[in-house]
Amino acid sequence: MRPFIKPATANAPAKVKDGGVISLVKAGDAAYNAKSGELLLLPGGALSLRQIKERLSVRLFEEAGLQPVNCGSDEAIFSLAERYVRDWGDSALSYLDERGRDIRLLGWSKDVAAAEQKTDEIMKAASDELEQICAGTPFSFVEETIPDGRSFSLLFPCEQGAIGARPGFLCRSCGKILLADSPFEFRSPQPGENEPEEELKEVATPGANTIAELCSQLNLDVKRTLKAMLYVAASEKADGLSPVASFIRGDYNISLSKLSCWLRNEYGLLGLRSAEKQELQSFFGEVAGYCGPVGMPENVILVCDSSVLGARNTVAGANHPGYHCTGCCYGRDFAGKIADIAQPGEGSPCACGGSFEATALRDAGVIQFGHDCKNDAPASEKVDKKLSYRDREGSHEYPVIWRGALSAERILLETGRLR
Ligand SMILES: [Zn+2]
Repeated sequence: MRPFIKPATANAPAKVKDGGVISLVKAGDAAYNAKSGELLLLPGGALSLRQIKERLSVRLFEEAGLQPVNCGSDEAIFSLAERYVRDWGDSALSYLDERGRDIRLLGWSKDVAAAEQKTDEIMKAASDELEQICAGTPFSFVEETIPDGRSFSLLFPCEQGAIGARPGFLCRSCGKILLADSPFEFRSPQPGENEPEEELKEVATPGANTIAELCSQLNLDVKRTLKAMLYVAASEKADGLSPVASFIRGDYNISLSKLSCWLRNEYGLLGLRSAEKQELQSFFGEVAGYCGPVGMPENVILVCDSSVLGARNTVAGANHPGYHCTGCCYGRDFAGKIADIAQPGEGSPCACGGSFEATALRDAGVIQFGHDCKNDAPASEKVDKKLSYRDREGSHEYPVIWRGALSAERILLETGRLR
């Protein structure tokens, strides 16, 4: 019997923070090239990687109907689907393809609801298997808002600087994970909700064109302020730009991605960007730093984050330089559509009663669907063709593409912690 190389060592590799890498190296299953950031898998690690791919592939086939193929490109998978959809129907619309250390997921659905159901099945099947592979290691598929559909990333809380780490937020009480552009409906109660409504009053606040300065001049809790962010966006149909004024409680920030998505769904607007100086003046007037929702011009699209709903006796810009209004009440003094457009942040409240804190998350895969996949897929992976065919019953269309990948390497790093 020839021996496998398995150079187990008690010493952690120098300067490596990734707990997964450290365990694999100590077990003698991998070496780490710190210069290139490459994980070199020794026989033990390579075998585990193969097992992870195998187990996920079998589970995704059995529970979600993904056909295991070996094609090497999305283009090739498309040609398989096109060739077999007439005779094999649904079975010929869902694929998984092992590519190096990744498993590519790709398929077509007849509408958004069907794509949603399919991605749910895929996440369920992958989670069922991952619970066994990563026994006890916490992970979640976390939704992020993307322009034309929905995206779910497979994330494991990890160390800063770990392979594949990205910033996000974790509630340590319930384990819920959020990314900066995740849907995030829960907001803490309004501070003044039980107070009687005050009179709307203008007060001089010279030089208070930031929330911090405003709070210090009026001795306010940041939660008693409204922050304005002014944008312009282009219509798909009409020429010209539409002005957009968004309002959010002072302790939150706007997610441009969520706001873009909302404007696209509600008004068909595209290309959201900050209003330039000239545009500020012509659309909103002399309001820079002092913009508020009371008395906005009629043509401005006014949208308020959920954190503004029920705001009472809050302070907002008065729409002329050097002044703010106190006693602003949502519903009485201003309205505006309510939308979920905030970014979660450090300290944001969780529905469980806990709060979110910033953390690093290992990104180990994604599954997403939409009508317009060409927008965000890298050029090498572009498959923007709708699948369609004709038979005696007429023509059949599968215009919604779902796609994703699972990284067996990053999952292996998580199982490394169990060694
Ligand atoms: Zn929680």
